[in-house]
Amino acid sequence: MPFSDIIGHSAPIGWLQRAIQSNHLAHAYLFVGDNAIGKKLTAIRMAQAISCDRYRESMTPDPCGVCKSCYQIEAQTHPDFLFIQPDSEGQNPQIKIDRVREIEHHVIYRPLIGVRKICLIDEVDRLTVGAANALLKTLEEPPDHCLFLLMTNRPSSLLATITSRCLVVRFSPSSPANVKNYLIEVRNISESEARLISCISGGRVGEALQIDITDVIARKGHYLSLLSEGSLDSIPPLLDTAEAVSKPGEVQKGLNEFWYILRDLLLVTLKCNSNEVMYREDIPTLHTIAKRTSPAALLNVLDELQSLEFGLHRNLNMQLGLERFLLHLRDAISSRDVPAPVG
Ligand SMILES: [Zn+2]
Repeated sequence: MPFSDIIGHSAPIGWLQRAIQSNHLAHAYLFVGDNAIGKKLTAIRMAQAISCDRYRESMTPDPCGVCKSCYQIEAQTHPDFLFIQPDSEGQNPQIKIDRVREIEHHVIYRPLIGVRKICLIDEVDRLTVGAANALLKTLEEPPDHCLFLLMTNRPSSLLATITSRCLVVRFSPSSPANVKNYLIEVRNISESEARLISCISGGRVGEALQIDITDVIARKGHYLSLLSEGSLDSIPPLLDTAEAVSKPGEVQKGLNEFWYILRDLLLVTLKCNSNEVMYREDIPTLHTIAKRTSPAALLNVLDELQSLEFGLHRNLNMQLGLERFLLHLRDAISSRDVPAPVG
């Protein structure tokens, strides 16, 4: 597949293609951008473009996608191509020193069939300290025939000495309209579903392709019904929701969903343009809920939601945190009806 199957990123891709064509490639590039934004796909297409069997005839810096080399790189079986990513054991995936030894062994010999020995390292910020220092040694004196394509969404977690050995290429999110049109084309979904996914994905195409729209809509329906009049009078459904959301694998999705709904509610209470609202089909329901709250009360719970998200990365007891958040949300949504204390 050529570079054109990548949505967005035309500036960095054009720049990389010109470097390939003019034979002015650096030894190491660091692709920086959000998770699932298209860094890895671009790196694979770049490795293919450089190694493509047809490149020497066409001199076009674009992989043909069908020759043996293009196929082997896609399948990660090309003898001059090595793909490294963090091991997935445990809570904290890492790239350990034995993988860097593998890289050293890979790059020391001349390419077997291609023109370069290429090494992709995904989430390079997950190198252990020992592994990072070992990689630095290779990057300081790279063999002429090798090319490193490093990727990270956390550049500040990377050794500054590694960053300084690389040419940094930044990847920005694609426009919501581009992502929406692409989703309609490849996922066979309605325009409103595609619009919703493009908003949730924040312009990250890799993320947009994985979002389960049925799950999003079911979750939204459940949370909106939880906030409806009468429903908030009862505490047990709130505690049940806290328990369900706090399960591993569910927390981030649950927090995101509360974020979208509360943001929409805030926009409705502030009488903003309905085009800004994410759940446009639910505007009547949002209006009904909005009558029982105020922007100030919603901003308070949004603050608490953000603290809860920080806590998620600091081993906070999520079930307790969510229970407290939902009880405060209950107060915030009922705040208009609470009579002011007398005296
Ligand atoms: Zn090819």
